[in-house]
Amino acid sequence: MPQQAKTTLESDGAMRPRRELPKAYDPAAIEERWAAYWVEQRLFEVKTQPVGSHDRAFTVLLPPPNVTGNLHMGHMFEHTESDILVRWHRMLGETTLWLPGTDHAGIATQMLVERLLVSEGTSRQALGREVFVERVREWRRHYGGAILASMKRIGDTVDWSREYYTMDENLSVAVREAFVRLYEDGLIYRGAYIVNWCPRCQTAISDLEVTHEEQQGKLWEIRYPIIGSPGEFLTVATTRPETMLGDVAVAVNPLDERYTHLHGKTLELPLTGREIPVIVDDWVKSDFGTGAVKITPAHDQNDFAIGQRHSLSAISVMDETAHMSAAAGHYSGLDRYDARKKVLEDLDTQGLLGAVRDHINAIGKCARCQTVVEPRLSTQWFVAVNKTPNKGGDSMAEMARKVVQETRAGDPKSKPLRFTPENYERIYLEWMNNIYDWCISRQLWWGHRIPAWHCGNCKEITVARQDPTHCAHCGFDQIVQETDVLDTWFSSGLLPVTVFGWPPPPGESTPDLDAFYPTSLLVTGFDILFFWVARMIMLGCYFSQDILMPNGSRPPLRESVPFREVYIHALVRDADRQKMSKTKGNVVDPVMIVEKYGTDAVRFTLASMASPGTDIAFSESRTEGYRAFANKIWNAARFIFMNVERAREAGIEIDPSLLGQAPTVPGSAPLEARWIGARLNSVAAEVSAALAAYRFDEAANLVYQYFWGDFCDWYLEIVKLRLDFADPANKAATRSALTTLLQTFEAALRLLSPFMPFLTEELWHALYDDQPPAKSIALTLYPLGAAHSDDVAEIDFPLLQELIASVRAARKDLGVEEKAMVPIRVRPLNDGLPFGNNLDIIQRLAKVSRVAFVENFLEQDVVFDAAGDFGSIRSTPNFDVQVVYEKTIDIPAERERLTKELTKLEKALASAERQLSNPAFLDKAPTHVIEGLRKMEADTRLLIEKTRKALDDLTQEGRG
Ligand SMILES: [Zn+2]
Ligand SMILES: [Zn+2]
Repeated sequence: MPQQAKTTLESDGAMRPRRELPKAYDPAAIEERWAAYWVEQRLFEVKTQPVGSHDRAFTVLLPPPNVTGNLHMGHMFEHTESDILVRWHRMLGETTLWLPGTDHAGIATQMLVERLLVSEGTSRQALGREVFVERVREWRRHYGGAILASMKRIGDTVDWSREYYTMDENLSVAVREAFVRLYEDGLIYRGAYIVNWCPRCQTAISDLEVTHEEQQGKLWEIRYPIIGSPGEFLTVATTRPETMLGDVAVAVNPLDERYTHLHGKTLELPLTGREIPVIVDDWVKSDFGTGAVKITPAHDQNDFAIGQRHSLSAISVMDETAHMSAAAGHYSGLDRYDARKKVLEDLDTQGLLGAVRDHINAIGKCARCQTVVEPRLSTQWFVAVNKTPNKGGDSMAEMARKVVQETRAGDPKSKPLRFTPENYERIYLEWMNNIYDWCISRQLWWGHRIPAWHCGNCKEITVARQDPTHCAHCGFDQIVQETDVLDTWFSSGLLPVTVFGWPPPPGESTPDLDAFYPTSLLVTGFDILFFWVARMIMLGCYFSQDILMPNGSRPPLRESVPFREVYIHALVRDADRQKMSKTKGNVVDPVMIVEKYGTDAVRFTLASMASPGTDIAFSESRTEGYRAFANKIWNAARFIFMNVERAREAGIEIDPSLLGQAPTVPGSAPLEARWIGARLNSVAAEVSAALAAYRFDEAANLVYQYFWGDFCDWYLEIVKLRLDFADPANKAATRSALTTLLQTFEAALRLLSPFMPFLTEELWHALYDDQPPAKSIALTLYPLGAAHSDDVAEIDFPLLQELIASVRAARKDLGVEEKAMVPIRVRPLNDGLPFGNNLDIIQRLAKVSRVAFVENFLEQDVVFDAAGDFGSIRSTPNFDVQVVYEKTIDIPAERERLTKELTKLEKALASAERQLSNPAFLDKAPTHVIEGLRKMEADTRLLIEKTRKALDDLTQEGRG
């Protein structure tokens, strides 16, 4: 690998990009090499410094991928955007830290290892908790690094020395500390609650982990006999009849006159022999179902709330596997759906089943395993997010609201925490305004076990930083640790403080918290806005309150946020704008795409399509296009290197110390040299502005236009005029042109580097003949102010471009042969047009043999001594131009060409028509293919018409 070799440079003193570049650009041949180099050389590590010695850094916390995961297109996109920003900030000269890690992913990892155990003929239960947890650790040691390897391969410039894992010892200690502090502050409690229960995963899952679906179901009416009124019934309607076994009341609306006479009465609960009251509650809607609602507090969220209001008991009739429990009497042991069938049969037999209607049910499924979730009453641990802590101050939710609302002098940009796109602030606030206590316990074995012990004597709970041996309340020594673990989002919600060494010693900060907290930016997807982003904000604000500022005071809210900005990126969909999913089979594997086109092309595709708030329809054809872009740059480099070689042979050496410096282009220099440097300045500033506003699409397109359009299509073409290695009289001019060319190319590589890091690294090292001034182009500065600005050149050159473009268009219309040199007539409409001094450019780029400046376009041209129809005059506000060209046509040859063309078009049309009239094809082919074919058919018809007309005209002409 290249090392810094300054001595060689000094002793030799010549620019020698002699390292031969292979003919073809082959990303596979360069990318893996540089990816490994960046990691080996530890280029992106940021050292810990003593407290107070750091400048504020640009810090980004990578959303930790699940340790079970593989890199998918969503990651690829998120990492592309993040890496572009991180590389750009680093090149602005800022201390830049991008911090990587992985999440232990409680449910996902446990499920995966459980499945493995089943395939081995054993189970989690058979192994026991300790052995199982060890098994999971072992699995992670062997297979947990897949996604990290992919991140290395795609060139993420994270600081690998700081890589963490949420189950690391130090992070686990911090998680425990956070739990204990919240408990001591009165913000953690244990309580009975209705949770979403997955009978397969056998754990509570959060609302956010439930996917809601609509399903065709039934609404059954059941008649409950009224006690004391034989033959009279109160009819309820339900979608889950098996839960009636746990009913404790029937509620009606107090204003519902149909039921006024039943207030205070009791009912006989069928199939159980129990007696239950009729109660009144405003919550009941008279117009839904029969207006009488069965109340099952242990199996429904709303019923639970009513039960609390009316002090009703709760009867659980199902166990944790969704089988009926002992409380369900002789239905005990039946699966919930078998019990439903049996209950309905029995009710029917007894004549208590009323009408049965079709009904669209909203059902919830476990997002992990697709099992229908059962609302279940259980004892769980909660964080009281709306409660004032014992020590005083705002509730967590209150703080989390203030940080997006507080402004200085009403300036929205001054908010402590800002969202991009802005509309996410409203969505976030809406959620935060309606937030409930957060259930943080999970009935899993894999995760941070809750540091609480239950006393066998007094039943009190002991929560402690060190494992206790005795009950803190009665001193009894038979205490048992809580079996639940913490929700994965509890530990990941703490990451912004824990990764920097929280908790610091009392009254102090840690060097890393001091330097890197608050972090600068979080780049993430909408799907984890509530799961993760909102919780990081609550926990980050809460715990950073204890970290004192260097002056010893508590931090203001502004310094408490975990990140100052949140950028929510879009989703990557397939080319037809469909969501990628395994069931649809339209998942694009980024690793395969990277192998096919190179990381740089994939990154550029994603960046160029990333306009805020718009999902990306990923298409390979775009990627192919950007691969061609990379190829174009490669070829430009080869052309440049070849000329450096030719210059050396002609005795022209370029001083290598000039490379990497702003080109010094005097006002007397050729226009293109002044213009290309000035353009670079403007483009670099525009790209920076776009990146600062997260307009990745604009930034990428600016770079693309500069490199392909300005640099390759214009500047390189003109520079060819200046490189004269034969005539010693032109030696100085050639050296000057070549120097500017090299300086501009080097700066342009830096401009492109954040977007295409591999290609630019390769070419940049080659440009310095593997003796570059830094270990990586990523460690150089972004080319802001890379050249002198030159307003005149930026005005003049586009005028020249406009003239050349006009001539090219006119040539095309007249059918001038590609290589023919033709004269033009130009009528300037303004003073000071840059044409007279740049005739050589006009002649070369527009293939013009001679330029005549005229005051009028006359029939008879005095300058060229030619007559006739020269084709139309092209007009612009600054000039008119006319190509002087009289077309002579070989009629028989032209007729033959047109006839051949017509035959070809007619064949194509026939084939398209055949396909479009084939029902089997129309059924199977994707919409975009069919649409493409229809468009082709219409275009071909038009071309046939035009060609026929041309043939007709030719025949007329032949006669005349
Ligand atoms: Zn599940
Ligand atoms: Zn006790």
